[in-house]
Amino acid sequence: MDSSGRMPWMRIVTPEEAASPEWKAKTAREAFRGRILKTLDMIAVMRDYMRLRARGRHYSGACPFHHDRGESLWVRPDRGTFKCFDCDLGGTLFDFMRHLKRIDEATATAYLANLAGLSDCR
Ligand SMILES: [Zn+2]
Repeated sequence: MDSSGRMPWMRIVTPEEAASPEWKAKTAREAFRGRILKTLDMIAVMRDYMRLRARGRHYSGACPFHHDRGESLWVRPDRGTFKCFDCDLGGTLFDFMRHLKRIDEATATAYLANLAGLSDCR
């Protein structure tokens, strides 16, 4: 923390910045992506592409991103994240789709929005 009591990585957004179309578009996009993640059941979506076994609050399964002999991929639905402890791939449901379908961020967002039954951020 610096002398102002703020964490060094925190930055105040100026009113000019916050009013800019870029900033508004960015926050709207992030909010939209948050809504998608809240609407979708991460485990149900991932189960269309791989087997997942419940292990308490977490799930594990054979990683679809490398030749996995065990169950190296773990999912934490409470955090909305997955991680493979072998090939190190991980992230959110957006990252899962991006890597699985080899698509970009925007396409993954559109794909999951459609699955969630949500229309565009506008
Ligand atoms: Zn893996």
